[in-house]
Amino acid sequence: MNRRNFFEKAIPASFALSAVASSCAPKADLRYPDKHFHISRGYHHIPKLRLSMDRIVKETVGLRPFRASGPRLDVEQLGNKTIVHNYGHGGSGWSLSWGTGNIARKNVLATGEKKIAVLGCGTVGIATSRLLQESGCEVTIYTKDVPPNVTSNLATGTWSPASRVCDKKIAKPEFQTIWEDATRFSFRRFQFLLGMNDIATWAEEYSVFRQEPVYVPGAGGEDFEIEGLLPERVRLEKKEHPFKADYVTRRTNIMFNIPTYLRHQLQDFTMFGGKVKIHEIKKLEDIDALPEKVIVNCMGLGAKPVFNDEELTPVSGQLSCLIPQGDVNYKLYTQGANFIARKDGIYIGSNGIVGNWDTTPSKEQTEKTVGILMKLMEEMRG
Ligand SMILES: Cc1cc2nc3c(=O)[nH]c(=O)nc-3n(C[C@H](O)[C@H](O)[C@H](O)COP(=O)(O)OP(=O)(O)OC[C@H]3O[C@@H](n4cnc5c(N)ncnc54)[C@H](O)[C@@H]3O)c2cc1C
Repeated sequence: MNRRNFFEKAIPASFALSAVASSCAPKADLRYPDKHFHISRGYHHIPKLRLSMDRIVKETVGLRPFRASGPRLDVEQLGNKTIVHNYGHGGSGWSLSWGTGNIARKNVLATGEKKIAVLGCGTVGIATSRLLQESGCEVTIYTKDVPPNVTSNLATGTWSPASRVCDKKIAKPEFQTIWEDATRFSFRRFQFLLGMNDIATWAEEYSVFRQEPVYVPGAGGEDFEIEGLLPERVRLEKKEHPFKADYVTRRTNIMFNIPTYLRHQLQDFTMFGGKVKIHEIKKLEDIDALPEKVIVNCMGLGAKPVFNDEELTPVSGQLSCLIPQGDVNYKLYTQGANFIARKDGIYIGSNGIVGNWDTTPSKEQTEKTVGILMKLMEEMRG
C-alpha cells in the first residue's frame, strides 16, 4: 500500500460519509456564480413551454356559432309557444353565457310561466337554466348531446366577451349597449366561480409581437372593450421580459377549466331539481310537441336548420392539446398562434375559418402553430 492509499483508507467513517454526501450536493460555486443574479434575473421569469409533436395528445376543431348582427336574443311567438332565443355567440359564448342568459331570463319571467324548456346543454344553455332556477323556475333541458359532446367543450376557455361576437359594420348601434350590459353581468357572475376547485381562475396573459400589432376591425379581434373591468394591460420594457420581441404586454385574465366547469354547472343544475332529456329537435313541430309553453333556444349552431337562420354561420377553430406542464400556467398570444394552460392540458391554436363546416383537424395547421411557438420559446431567455 502506498502512502496515498494508506491515508485514504485511514479516513474515519463519519468523514467518509460526509465526503460522499458533499460530493452529491450541488456545487455551490457552479450553481450560484452570482447569487443575486439568480434571485433577481432583472426580467420576469416565464417558464418555457415544452413543445414537440409527440406531446400532442388530442386535436379538435370546434365551430363557433357566428352571427354578423350578434347573438339572437329576441322573443318569437309560434302558435301557443313562446320561443326565447339565446344563440349565436361566436367566439364569446363562454364569456357572455351568464349575461345573455340574464337577458333570456328577463324575457322568460315576463311571460309569467314557471315550467320552462331549455333547448341545448352547452355553456349558454346551462348558465341560462341555472339563472332560471334561481328565479324559481322548474327547468328541463332538451338536448341532442351533453358535455363533452358539445361545441362549448372545444373552446379555448378564456374571458373574451368581444371575440367574434358580431361584425361591427353590420350589428345595430344598440347592440353595443346590450353587449356591455351582458358583459358586465357575466363578469360579476364569474367572480362567484373563482376559487371553486379551479373551475375559473385568474392567470397571466402575455401578448408577444415583433412590432405593435395593427388593429383590423372585424378580423377576429375584439371590436368592443370595457375599460376598467379587467386589470390594466401593461406594456413591458424590453429589459423586463424574456422574449425576443419589441412589443410585449401582460395582463391578468380569467381562464375557464372547461371540463370541470361544465360538470360543476350541470351538477348544480341537477342538484336544484333540473332534468336533462336527450331529445333532438329536427323541426318546429318537435318544439310544438313539448309540454312546456315557454322554450329557451340555446342550440348554438344547431338552431340554423330548425329556425332557418341564414345569418348563422360556423367559424371553425382548431386546437391541439399538449400534456399539462405544471410550471406553465399562463396564456400567450403571438403572431399566428396562441396557447392557454388549463388543468386538463395546454391548448394551442386557434385559427378562425369563416363558413367552414369541416371538423377534421389539419396536421399542417398543427405543425404551423407548433413551429411558431417553438421558435418563440427557443429564442426566449431562460
Ligand atoms: C376553438 C374555439 C375557441 C373558443 N374560445 C372561446 C373562449 O376562449 N372564450 C369564450 O367565451 N368563447 C370561446 N369560444 C366560443 C364558445 O365556445 C361558443 O360561443 C359557445 O360554446 C357556444 O355555446 P352554446 O351553448 O351556444 O353552444 P353549444 O356548446 O354548441 O351547445 C349547443 C347545445 O345545443 C344542442 N343542440 C344542437 N342542435 C340541437 C337540436 N337540433 N336538438 C336538440 N339539441 C340541439 C347541442 O347538443 C348542445 O347541447 C370558442 C369556440 C371555439 C370553437
